[in-house]
This record gives sequence, C-alpha cells and structure tokens, in this order.
Amino acid sequence: MITESDFGKRVYYIDGEQLNQFVASSEYVCTGYGYEWEKEGVTHIHFSPLEHSFGKKLNVSFAKENGHHLSDANIKVDIASNGSALVDGTEVTIIPSRENLYKRNKGLIELDILANKRVLIIGLGSGGSPIAVELAKAGVGQFALADFDRIELHNLSRHICSLNDLGRLKTDAVSDAIKGKNPYAVVDKLPIDVSKNLDILEEEIKKADIVMCCTDNNSSRFHTSELLVKHNKVGLFGRAITRAEGGDVFIYRPGQACYFCLLGSDWYDQSNEEITNEASARRAGHIPAYVSAEDAEAFVQVGLGADIEPINNMMVKLALVELSRGTESGISSLEDEFQANYYIWANRRERQYTNWGSFHNTNGMPTIMKWYGINISKDDDCTLCGHKESLATDETFLESLKAMGSGDFSGLNLEDISDTGLQNM
Ligand SMILES: [Zn+2]
Repeated sequence: MITESDFGKRVYYIDGEQLNQFVASSEYVCTGYGYEWEKEGVTHIHFSPLEHSFGKKLNVSFAKENGHHLSDANIKVDIASNGSALVDGTEVTIIPSRENLYKRNKGLIELDILANKRVLIIGLGSGGSPIAVELAKAGVGQFALADFDRIELHNLSRHICSLNDLGRLKTDAVSDAIKGKNPYAVVDKLPIDVSKNLDILEEEIKKADIVMCCTDNNSSRFHTSELLVKHNKVGLFGRAITRAEGGDVFIYRPGQACYFCLLGSDWYDQSNEEITNEASARRAGHIPAYVSAEDAEAFVQVGLGADIEPINNMMVKLALVELSRGTESGISSLEDEFQANYYIWANRRERQYTNWGSFHNTNGMPTIMKWYGINISKDDDCTLCGHKESLATDETFLESLKAMGSGDFSGLNLEDISDTGLQNM
C-alpha cells in the first residue's frame, strides 16, 4: 500500500535478465536508456532501447564497483557484484527473469511446454487481439500474427489496443501488447491478407501448434479449414453473431469433423465477403438495397466487448487444453470436459435465441450465459474431409442439439448460425 511518505519517492525498475548479462560480462561500464513516467516518479531502465518507448527518454550509465560513470548520464546506476543495483542510494526493483515472471502459473499449466508452443492467430480484432494477450499471459512463447488492418476508431471499444495505437498496423500494436505481458515471447508479424497469400498461410499453418481463426470473413475461414485438414493441425474458429447476442466456437481436431462438416459445403461463396462495414456488406450483397442505413448499421454492429469476451475466453481455454494435452497440469481435467467440438453461447434471448428458456427456467431449456457443447460428427459426404462429394445436410447438427436434452431447440437452426450475419469477434 502506498503511504503519504511514498509520494515524491522515486521508483526504478530494471530488466533482471539484461542486468545479469552485464554482471557476468567483463565490462565495467556501459550505457543504457531510461524511460520516465513524468511527474509520476517512475523510471524504467533498459540496456537496449525500447522499440516503442513511453514517457521521457533519459541517458543511463551503468557502472560496476571499479567502473567510472559517464559524466553526461541523466541516471547513474551503481551495480554491486551480487547483482543488486542502486540509483542515488535508492534500490532498483529487478524485473524477474523468464522463469520467474510466470511463477504464479506454475502447477496450473506446464510453463516450459507452453513457452515452446507456436500459435498462429488469424485476425486481430476484438477476438484475436484479446486472445493473443491472454495466451501470452498464460505463458505461450511463440506467436504468428496475421492481419493487414490498422487500428481504427470504430473498433477501439472492443479492442485490446488504445487510442495511442490509432493508425498502427494491428500486427505491430498487438505484438507490443503481447511483449508487454511476456517480453520473452517471439512474435512473427504477417501484415497480409491470408486469403490472397495462400502460400504464406500454408507455411504458417505447417509451423503452428494451433491455429486461432478470428477473422470476420468466410474466405479466410474457408482456406484455413482446408489447410488444417491438409496438414492435420488443430484449429479453432470463434464467432460472435451480429450484435453479439450470442456466438459459437468450433474446434477442429485432426481426424474429427472439420469446419465444412459443421457448415455444409455451400457456406462460402467465392465472392469474398467482408462485413465489418456497411459499404462492403452492401457490396457483397449481404445487405439488400432496400434496407435502411439504420438497420444496416445494426447489421454491422458487433456488440459489446463484454458480450464477445465469453467467446474469447472459451477459445483461450480450449487452446490451452490442446497445447497442454498429454502433460500433467492443473487443467488436465478439462481434457475430459472439453470433448465436444462445437460450443454455443447466448448473451441475450434475441433473434435466433428468442425461443430459449429464461435464465431461471427449470424445464431443461438452454439458457443465456451458459455454454452448450455439441459433438458434431464427421460427415462422410463432406466436400473437404469426407469420401463422397455432395451437399451436406443440417441433420447431424440438429440431431446433436436434440441429443443435448429434452429442450426445444427450434429457435436455433443451422441456417441462422451459419448465415452471413455472423461477425468478426
Ligand atoms: Zn469435413
């Protein structure tokens, strides 16, 4: 707790791993960089410059006991042989090294295993960006981020990035957000449209341990599905429905049903729809000409961030379970819980969820704010993973829904779930 006497006191932080390297080196003096949160008395000290800095930049001189400070340095850091650091007699707080940073996750998840896992995230909007940061917080160490968009005002309210990031490529801004949580994460940035760079998408899917598909267009979902099946990779597909009254998460595990088994073969028309703004939705024919601008606006609304978070959260949990599969960890029991490959969620009893039961109903109806896991079986007629080529039917899906319980699921059908009202998360 900060007491009154703490005001005016200066606080310094330094990277423990970089500090250890300097202590172990034969050098006595070296220069560095300080970043001061002005008027807040907080300064972060680094040996190498930050890629994207904050606050006021200061020159730093580091000196061991026998070294002499550079006279023009703004901050002089005295380093003792035991590795401790002082600035004007004030002890510098050392930011723990890699193995200690996520110590509190120990036992819950296998940190060494996650540190070496590579996650490809396609789409860095209100779904992909928080998922990326959440996986970094859990200790995932390697990322490939694919998105060609920039941070714009209209998506800020649901995005992990802030006003300070306006105009930046989402790949750059989200990479910084990941490194803000895990500075040891390796992040490869792919500011491309994956649907137009299928060779790159294929290479990335081959390298990834898991693929998170968080895009708002069926074109990238279509191509990602194909490549997941081709290369036997686990992939997750998450979506929020138009105004985030609900959403769904599908996980493809090699050998099981694929995304085409779920949606049939005609869910993607090659027109490459893009539905995050009214103009492109109209262009793609998803909003008929007679629909007013106001109703069209509702079509492209993606809802509150809080309504999208449950879907992101489910994606993260499923991903962590898959990445940790086979290891002894605190989440192992979830392997049994998450056997289904399709999960649905409703935030409000609106539109396709109108017929769902009220939150407190006792007659076994599905309700809002509760996940329902459904086993989608592999479809022998699937055009992607099946044996015969023909149009898939909705029967499997509806059968699974009925098998979930005695409730009336007539309010939900595959047409609604797979229609183009589905939105980017
Ligand atoms: Zn299939």
